[in-house]
Amino acid sequence: MKRSVFGEDHELYRDQFRRFAEKEIVPKIAAWNAAGMPDRETWRRMGEEGFLGASLPEEWGGAGQDFLYDAVVMEELAWLRAHGLMFSLHTDICAPYIRDFGSDAHKEQYLRGAIEGRVLLGVAMTEPGTGSDLANVQTRAIRDGDHYVIDGSKTFISHGQIGDVFIVVAKTDPDARPPHKGISLILVEDGTPGFVKGRKLDKLGLPGQDTSELFFQECRVPVSNRLGEEGRGFAMLMTELQQERLCIGVSSIASCRRALADTLDYVKGRRAFGQPIGSFQNTQFKLAELATEVEIGQVFVDRLMAAHVAGEDVVTEVSMAKWWATDLQKRLTAECLQLHGGYGFMREYPISGDFADAAVQSIYAGTNEIMKRIIAQRLGLA
Ligand SMILES: Cc1cc2nc3c(=O)[nH]c(=O)nc-3n(C[C@H](O)[C@H](O)[C@H](O)COP(=O)(O)OP(=O)(O)OC[C@H]3O[C@@H](n4cnc5c(N)ncnc54)[C@H](O)[C@@H]3O)c2cc1C
Repeated sequence: MKRSVFGEDHELYRDQFRRFAEKEIVPKIAAWNAAGMPDRETWRRMGEEGFLGASLPEEWGGAGQDFLYDAVVMEELAWLRAHGLMFSLHTDICAPYIRDFGSDAHKEQYLRGAIEGRVLLGVAMTEPGTGSDLANVQTRAIRDGDHYVIDGSKTFISHGQIGDVFIVVAKTDPDARPPHKGISLILVEDGTPGFVKGRKLDKLGLPGQDTSELFFQECRVPVSNRLGEEGRGFAMLMTELQQERLCIGVSSIASCRRALADTLDYVKGRRAFGQPIGSFQNTQFKLAELATEVEIGQVFVDRLMAAHVAGEDVVTEVSMAKWWATDLQKRLTAECLQLHGGYGFMREYPISGDFADAAVQSIYAGTNEIMKRIIAQRLGLA
């Protein structure tokens, strides 16, 4: 179905990004997957070509356009399975914290650097002891004169090896009640004494991503590294989550499209009992059902993108899209793998990677159970 959310300029931008990706991303994906992270040169080139600042303010080197330009890049990267290049994390999840809550000095140093592809961003919320229950983080940032002294550990942090600056979620008032009122967001640069990057974790999927542990041991950072007001960290996180979850919905549907397209090709070519496996009614019904759901998901996500760009509060609906689209992605990749038979289980067939990569979509950016809690709360049930 023809999509109406993107205008002509967005589609021209898509063509431009496709040309860039064909030359500078596609040839490198396998190497990124083997290395467990992308190379810095590609980030720098993304910045140089203006792909990192499309939606960010002109004042700091961006183009001041809407979120849809970034959504175009997310869709293309998902289609290419270039998951190692964590574009949305950098541009649409982390950079907005600095844009919305950073000082001019933060913006000059970090936002401009992020847009140019020189400074890679990450956000460190999750800890070994707590993920979903974010208000319960144990990392502390205790004031000592003009500094905070940070102690604690984080885990599952994307960009954990390659990242230059992390937005660290820490308790500046560990005794605050309710606990979330003691949370602040503090920028910590790679190389700060007391900040140690730990292991790159061994994962089921997303081999090109450097998900890692981070440690803070008497790590002193100036008070001026805090984003916004002390104790307002939790509220800031809640403000930005709408876009984070929308990004997952966008890439999830795009990944579904790719897995579906490849499976359609496969079932047309593979033969059993003297006929293409695509001629069996089971194959046809399965793919017809999945194609229907992808269309439904696309319409919903497109509508949410339009609402988001228009500045509407669609937290409830974005939470719905996040759980529904990622759930679809998990079901779809499992069904498509099955339709590949034994080849689906072989790593040389991308559907095996699609299946593994899909597993985490329902876990990060707030688990799907947490999404349902949010929806239930907004339905007046909690
Ligand atoms: C590849 C990858 C990349 C990641 N990147 C980042 C990153 O860059 N930065 C970052 O901070 N974090 C990151 N994470 C962490 C991710 O956000 C957390 O794993 C996630 O929030 C879940 O937290 P948890 O793992 O502690 O699970 P838990 O919170 O322990 O949850 C375990 C299970 O219990 C369920 N559960 C928990 N509470 C409730 C409840 N109240 N009601 C019903 N069910 C509940 C959950 O839904 C889940 O099924 C990443 C994780 C992965 C795997």
